[in-house]
Amino acid sequence: MEECIFCDIIKNRLPSATVYEDNEFIAFKDIKPLAPVHIIIVPKEHIASINELEEKNKEMIGNMLLVAKKLAKEKEISDGYKLAFNTGRKGGQLVDHLHLHLMGGWKEEQ
Ligand code: 5GP
Ligand code: ZN
Repeated sequence: MEECIFCDIIKNRLPSATVYEDNEFIAFKDIKPLAPVHIIIVPKEHIASINELEEKNKEMIGNMLLVAKKLAKEKEISDGYKLAFNTGRKGGQLVDHLHLHLMGGWKEEQ
């Protein structure tokens, strides 16, 4: 089974500022935030990127967006936020474990 830095966080082998956890996902504050609110939402299953998604993952991806919506509301940024799946090195992906960036909290549109 593949392992990575996000698997280490999921398995509590590495600390993180966790803001949400359920059976399927963990969400934590980005260690190098690019926005006043910058949360990383990670499925507990190790899937490398959007490129490795399969039909069977359809429900999980939908649930991931619902977690993003819930956290945006909790963090009071529902009036403006960005969601990003960086994919591949050329797409800015540095950690090869699928994750969704939730970014917001700016005073005005960026
Ligand atoms: P990527 O560039 O792969 O789309 O995003 C990975 C993100 O994870 C980056 O924004 C990076 O700052 C964050 N990150 C990498 N390692 C850690 C870590 O150990 N802890 C936390 N909280 N964030 C991390
Ligand atoms: Zn992993």
